[in-house]
Amino acid sequence: MRVVRETNLSVEVELGELSVIMLSDGETAMPLTHLRGVDGEPLPDEALGGADVVDGKLRLPVRAFMVRGPGGCLMIDAGAGDAWHAPLGRLEAAMMAAGVSARAVTAVALTHTHVDHLGGLVDRDGECAFPNARQIFVATEELAEFRAEPRMLRAWPRLMPLEQGDGPIRGVTAINAPGHSPGHMAFLVEGRMLIWGDLVHHAAVQFPRPEVTWAFDDNQAQARMSRLALMAQAVEAGWIVAGAHLPSPGIGRIERVGEGYAFRPVTAG
Ligand SMILES: [Zn+2]
Repeated sequence: MRVVRETNLSVEVELGELSVIMLSDGETAMPLTHLRGVDGEPLPDEALGGADVVDGKLRLPVRAFMVRGPGGCLMIDAGAGDAWHAPLGRLEAAMMAAGVSARAVTAVALTHTHVDHLGGLVDRDGECAFPNARQIFVATEELAEFRAEPRMLRAWPRLMPLEQGDGPIRGVTAINAPGHSPGHMAFLVEGRMLIWGDLVHHAAVQFPRPEVTWAFDDNQAQARMSRLALMAQAVEAGWIVAGAHLPSPGIGRIERVGEGYAFRPVTAG
């Protein structure tokens, strides 16, 4: 992996014949009580010592990823658009910074249908923000949820069910990672980088203590199992990891440290 280009809103890395571009949608913050112990209760203060806190809340960056190669140009997630917290919805600015265009996108795949991944799929007028995307891949388990969102009406004709093992473009494979949502998906790029969506919400706590869950995990126990399994697999396989809520630049290596893990962000150097 080689860092090709870096701006304050984006980083592009080369992986074989594909390139992966992290695009920042901005940053918000969430209450400390969103981190949950194995008992399902908010973590006690002493367990939050290493947390990344801004104004008394947990820092939450939001990212989407573009994967470009001979098989097409795939957006993985679309940021929040104007549908969630005001500091978000910066995807367009990030694409400009990275020197890429929404018009170049030939397919979109969602890790799941929560608003911070889905909202940016449409613009203010309800038009698809990626006009040349022929397919929008959504996990079979979450198609109904997607269709229940009135803003997404114009995207319906392009909707494609996504299952484990499917390849939205050549070189990208969907992997089940359920728990945060019923059909939550990760994507393995070139067999070397796992773009894992919302497997981790707060790296500073959930890498050293991967058993810690998030208040919005649909099924806390299943989310924990998926995180533990994929973190172990990533270390064993030597995968690079990338995530929607990982610290800057959202791409890095994972190492085993003690009973847990550590995240080592990629750098241009
Ligand atoms: Zn999210």
